[in-house]
Amino acid sequence: MARVYNFGAGPSTLPLAVLERAREELTDWRGTGMSVMEISHRDKAFISVAEQAEADLREIMAIPRNYKVLFVQGGATSQFAMVPMNLLRGKRRANYVLTGAWSKRAIGEARLFCEAAIAAAPEDDNFTTIPRREDWEVDPDAAYLHYTSNETIDGVEFQDVPDAGALPLVADMSSNILSRCIDVSRFGLIYAGAQKNLGPAGITIVIVRDDLIGDTLPGTPSMLDYAKHAANGSMLNTPPTFNWYLVGLVLQWIKEQGGLAAIEAHNKRKAEKLYTAIDASSLYRNRIDPGCRSRMNVPFVLADDSLSGSFLTKAEEVGLTALKGHRSVGGMRASIYNAMSEEGVDVLIAFMDEFERSHG
Ligand SMILES: *Cc1c(COP(=O)(O)O)cnc(C)c1O
Repeated sequence: MARVYNFGAGPSTLPLAVLERAREELTDWRGTGMSVMEISHRDKAFISVAEQAEADLREIMAIPRNYKVLFVQGGATSQFAMVPMNLLRGKRRANYVLTGAWSKRAIGEARLFCEAAIAAAPEDDNFTTIPRREDWEVDPDAAYLHYTSNETIDGVEFQDVPDAGALPLVADMSSNILSRCIDVSRFGLIYAGAQKNLGPAGITIVIVRDDLIGDTLPGTPSMLDYAKHAANGSMLNTPPTFNWYLVGLVLQWIKEQGGLAAIEAHNKRKAEKLYTAIDASSLYRNRIDPGCRSRMNVPFVLADDSLSGSFLTKAEEVGLTALKGHRSVGGMRASIYNAMSEEGVDVLIAFMDEFERSHG
């Protein structure tokens, strides 16, 4: 089969070594004569997979002991509701930073439960920058401050963790978790759907400081209660065991790459190369403020939009797939998550260059 580089935004490319290992073990896992997906989640063997994944995540991110790590379902979208249901703790207001399509969705859902006050938002409708921290209006009496560390659709990423003062800082890290080093102790809660940097869709990671849980809104169902998940080792019901196992393999792969510092350096190199190529060209353009450009999702438009269809078709022909931008913003988007090799980015840049020369 021809070589393919998958630039899809999610579900997205996974390390080939992980897929090959999963294939090898698919029908006979650890000599059991069964697939890992056929084994009870209460079985000692599976519990060891679950515990190892948590231990590896704790090690890779240096998660302090007073944080719970939960493996839940329902995607990041369920977290848009679970965060207010669990973290309002008697308050009626929470601060939200609006930087793109995903923070907008988080705000919409939070408004089912509380007053989601906009602490900061761009001046116009274009999500091309992040308002300066000095200009944010954060209510210190609200329950928490929520932001989206990487806006997957718009291509805007925080380069630093914003100061939340004494408020619990909550981050939707779905599309940049494990892509760079962060200090977990700065956060009250971090959540991330797996299908960008962690594994397949269907499992979501929540990292939450333990003093923040246990005081949910009245009527909160058990499945939406962090404290109940924590008390039951994320096995309040049957968890998505195969996804959990795959996340575990991805975490082992990250350790083999040299951990987050090595992953971050790799991601930085890939992104710098691609943005440099875009900036140097007269056909391609990225509209994001250079100080807020995402290392994970690189959207770009063609100066002559009538060439976009042909760009995508030709890219597809040479194995560069899923480069079409999100339907809400159009243009192109190259998602270059952890599992995208530097070689994949080089091949993309060479293709873009060739396409520009033949249409110059
Ligand atoms: C993909 C994504 C989501 C939505 O995740 P689901 O698992 O589909 O609910 C939310 N936030 C961000 C930043 C994302 O990239």
